[in-house]
Amino acid sequence: MPFTTLGLSDPLLRGVLASGYTTPTAIQSQAIPAALEGRDLIGCAQTGTGKTAAFVLPILSRLFGERPAKKRIVRSLILTPTRELAVQIEQSIHDYGRYLDVRTLAIYGGVDIRKQLNALRRGVDIVVATPGRLMDHMRRNTVDIRSVEAFVLDEADRMFDMGFINDVRKIIATLPAQRQTMLFSATMPPEVRQLAAGIQKDPMMIQVGQQHNPIDTITQHVHAVLRQQKMDMLMHMLQNRQMPSVLIFSRTKHGADKIAHSLEQAGIDAEAIHSNRSQSQRQHALDNFKRGKCQVLVATDIVARGIDVHGISHVINFDVPLFAQDYVHRIGRTGRANIAGDAITFVAPDERDQLRRIEQFIGCRLAIENYEGFTCDHFTATLSRSEEHSRAQRKVARVRRAAKRPRLVRR
Ligand code: AMP
Repeated sequence: MPFTTLGLSDPLLRGVLASGYTTPTAIQSQAIPAALEGRDLIGCAQTGTGKTAAFVLPILSRLFGERPAKKRIVRSLILTPTRELAVQIEQSIHDYGRYLDVRTLAIYGGVDIRKQLNALRRGVDIVVATPGRLMDHMRRNTVDIRSVEAFVLDEADRMFDMGFINDVRKIIATLPAQRQTMLFSATMPPEVRQLAAGIQKDPMMIQVGQQHNPIDTITQHVHAVLRQQKMDMLMHMLQNRQMPSVLIFSRTKHGADKIAHSLEQAGIDAEAIHSNRSQSQRQHALDNFKRGKCQVLVATDIVARGIDVHGISHVINFDVPLFAQDYVHRIGRTGRANIAGDAITFVAPDERDQLRRIEQFIGCRLAIENYEGFTCDHFTATLSRSEEHSRAQRKVARVRRAAKRPRLVRR
């Protein structure tokens, strides 16, 4: 089904085509017609599915599609958990809406507030914001969101994880009751469902793919390795394999800095991105990575959520993530928009339980592969033994359950 059949306004269709898209993705073809009618919706989609356009296009088409804005008032608000995501969404609005007269402003912390104040004074139509800085503007009375017609809560599950939910609730309480609300979340835990029930009216539910399954375009590899050998293994991989654009995840900020520093010393262009770096350093690192100026970006989970960089060839989990859902988000940075990618996870002996939790979460076993010169046979064997052990335990439990069952007595 081509974009032309979805009911988008003419200037917007031209903007979409100029962005290089011809066919809508699954979430776009389901969400756009409903959102154009002004319906509330819940989009539960895996990362990289094209969800940004699924809400940006109908907002632009419905509110700004035909006529130029008469008065600059904030008619749409998009809330997102991270600054990088806010910048990215703002960019998408500029791209798709290039033939429309729309003013968009990204409002986020870590940068001088004066620029945002000046832009707000001149008037904006769409605000894309992180909750903390938006609350700051609301307290100063420098932004007015009482005329919002279309509200988007993006990455709702992450808003809970990052502790932003109280600010989010306060912001929603200021919005007019009569509005369209679109909620997007990678997972749908009970607290997100509860929130949706309180802020939406008869939402249409759109789920694309299995909630927990990483997308098909990603090949997953797991290597057992001693913790003290992880750096050498990483270096060996980067120096001996074709890895043009690599995103490495570290569990800690200090770890991210250390990895980037070691790579730089070995002559590999690498940058670190985490919440201890200033916003301009973060943006600079991300821009360099996007433009291919550096081969490797080392990130922590907080900042990497939602990052959309075209053509990341490899994601490397230097540390196994603590939370299973973070695994899906991390590896979802590659294999986007149907381009194949590889996800590689280094597992040290003390990270076995985390790996098990990930396997339970995604519902499949991940084979342990040996990496040349770094075989950790003892560990691999222990892993397989523990698999056999849990298989045996399951069998014992089955036999015990069967023994407890009342038996039919045949006469
Ligand atoms: P998102 O899930 O919104 O972060 O989008 C993931 C990637 O898919 C981004 O790089 C988009 O530019 C790209 N994308 C979105 N919609 C389409 C489409 N209809 N056709 C091709 N690529 C798309």
